[in-house]
Amino acid sequence: MRVYNFSAGPSMLPQPVLERAREEMLDWRGSGMSVMEMSHRGSHFNEIARNSEAALRELLGIGEEYYCLFLQGGATGQFAAIPMNLLGERRKMDYVVTGSWSKKALAEARRYGEVRVVASSEQDKFTTIPDPSTWQIDPDAAYLHYTANETIEGVEFPFVPKTDLPLVTDMSSNLLSRPLDVSQFGLIYAGAQKNMGPAGICIVIVRQDLVRDPLPVTPSIWDYRLQAKEGSMLNTPPTYNWYVLGLVLEWLREQGGVAAIEKRNIEKADLLYQAIDRSDFYHNPVDPRYRSRMNVPFTLADPSLDAVFLKEAEAQGLVNLKGHRSVGGMRASIYNAMPIEGVRALVDFMQEFERRYG
Ligand SMILES: *Cc1c(COP(=O)(O)O)cnc(C)c1O
Repeated sequence: MRVYNFSAGPSMLPQPVLERAREEMLDWRGSGMSVMEMSHRGSHFNEIARNSEAALRELLGIGEEYYCLFLQGGATGQFAAIPMNLLGERRKMDYVVTGSWSKKALAEARRYGEVRVVASSEQDKFTTIPDPSTWQIDPDAAYLHYTANETIEGVEFPFVPKTDLPLVTDMSSNLLSRPLDVSQFGLIYAGAQKNMGPAGICIVIVRQDLVRDPLPVTPSIWDYRLQAKEGSMLNTPPTYNWYVLGLVLEWLREQGGVAAIEKRNIEKADLLYQAIDRSDFYHNPVDPRYRSRMNVPFTLADPSLDAVFLKEAEAQGLVNLKGHRSVGGMRASIYNAMPIEGVRALVDFMQEFERRYG
């Protein structure tokens, strides 16, 4: 029996994708071998790689002036690769800090140049987004970085910040959850294991003219120009993960693309937040304007019931609801692959639980 898996990442994948991968496990489309056994330089894998890039470009309307890279090292690797490739002579970067992940991005960037915090919501325990009119952006910085969805705190930007600097954004947990005007960005990056596929592969979409000569310390595998030249195959890429990511992109296309999935994501998030807000038993601490559609943290009025809640939820096939250790309570991650039935089952369980313990 499949459960409803509310894990923040690695997370639930669409069932048709898993079924397709199972069907093709021993013999990928008449090749007589598994994708795991193929040469990354051969024509079969080439087709997989080309098709996945085409699907990504089509889904997000990515222009020719952008590289689409499929890299290893996760979003965490990009925390370093971004300054290495975009700083050039400038050596200064601006960061907006709205949660745990933007804080980590900033800490890593510090190793490569001068980093400024243009705004932070840490005083508000990362439950909001600082008013953009108060951001102190340095016109000489190489770029402005922000985290579009803070996976741990459940804070999501409903707007794209306005700035003359190239905009760099970590969309690890919300890329492909809604339509996006890529041309507003200099660089978008996202690890796949939240909303797009298995762990081990990371997408980087970067405007070509922003890529400078990399800092001399830059490892070749994180040299964007070199990776672009080599079709993201400077070394052996994570072939199977790339393939599954491609299946997810195909699935998303069949669902009607990002506009269609956004409607469903809004519906799911509304259902869950309304259930939380209607009750005095559950509570979500985030400024309602900036609540994430993807990650919904909530607490119980009586935290001593947390363990019982988790145990009973699990018994009903609702798993991985434990909140991140840094914030406690619960967290329901409801990415593209989570069907509305899963959210309904969670809401029903929560109401039942409140009736019995509230
Ligand atoms: C999970 C996550 C990361 C880290 O991803 P890794 O692939 O583990 O490096 C970075 N940023 C955000 C927003 C995340 O959700």
